[in-house]
Amino acid sequence: MHHQGKPVQAVPISQRNAFIEDNKHQIQCWVPGCCNTDRLPRKIFYSLPTDPLLRDLWLAAAGKAYHDLQNIWFCKDHFSVDIETSNSLPVCNMPQKRCRTCLAPIQNKKYCVLSPNINSKMPASIEHLFGSTYSRPLIEVLQFCVPEMTIEMNPVPVCCYNCYNSMWIYYFFKQRCIYQEKTLMEVYRGRYGNVVGCRACPSNDHKNVVLLNGNYELEILLTSMFGNDGPSTSIPLQLCPRCIPILKDIQEFTTICLRTQDIFKQLGSDPQHSQAVVEEPTVPINK
Ligand SMILES: [Zn+2]
Ligand SMILES: [Zn+2]
Ligand SMILES: [Zn+2]
Repeated sequence: MHHQGKPVQAVPISQRNAFIEDNKHQIQCWVPGCCNTDRLPRKIFYSLPTDPLLRDLWLAAAGKAYHDLQNIWFCKDHFSVDIETSNSLPVCNMPQKRCRTCLAPIQNKKYCVLSPNINSKMPASIEHLFGSTYSRPLIEVLQFCVPEMTIEMNPVPVCCYNCYNSMWIYYFFKQRCIYQEKTLMEVYRGRYGNVVGCRACPSNDHKNVVLLNGNYELEILLTSMFGNDGPSTSIPLQLCPRCIPILKDIQEFTTICLRTQDIFKQLGSDPQHSQAVVEEPTVPINK
C-alpha cells in the first residue's frame, strides 16, 4: 500500500467492538470471498474504525460497495499483525482490485486510495522537476487534472502506482501553465510576445521552442491547461523540448481516463456496477 501523507494512529482494540462467539445476532465477515461468521468458535470480528482515514483504507482494501457502515465487520483472518499495536490495515486474503483510472489489475497489493480523507504525497521521483514537494488528496489531484471524470466514492476507489505518478505530473504541469500565464498577464500585459519561450515552464529558450501548430490534439490539450483564464492568444502555443514529452504523457493518461469514463457510463452509476468493474476480471479492456 502506498504510504499516505497523514500518519495512521493505532486504535485500541476496545474501540473496535471486538465480538467473540457469545454475541446475540449473527455477524458475517464483509470481505468479498470470506465466509467467516461468528458461528465459528473464537472467531473475532472488528467493526470499521471511526477515524475516516483508517475507515476509507479498510473500505478500499475490500473494494466493495457499502450500504450501512454500522454493519460492516472484518474477521481477524485479514490482519497479519496484532491489531492492538499496529496501524491495523486488512492486508490478508483481500480481493483483487482494479485501478479506477486505467482499469489495470492492481499488482502486488500496490495501490493508492482515492478519498478526500486521505492525503497523497507527490512521488519523490518528480520532485526534481518541480523543485518542491506537496501533498493533497489524490482524488482532488485527479479532479483538477481530468474534470470530465466522474468518480463514485462508493466503493472507495483505488488506483495503480502508474496512474498515481501520471496524476501528479499532470497536476504540476497544469499548475505551472496557469502560474506562467498569470505571471505573464500581470507583468507583461499586452507586450510579452518576446518574453515567452515555453508556455508551461519559466524557460525562455526561444531557439529550441516547439510550436504545436497543426497538432490539434496536443493544442486542445494544452489549451485546456489554462482553465478559464487563457491561454492568451498573443503568444503562440509553444513548449520547450523538456515540456513536450510531459504533455505527450499527459495526453496518453487523459485518453485512458476518458476511455474508462466511457466504460463506466455504459455500466450506469449504480455503485454495484462500479464494483463489477473493480472485481470482475473478465471486463474487456482494450489496452
Ligand atoms: Zn473474513
Ligand atoms: Zn492505473
Ligand atoms: Zn517548458
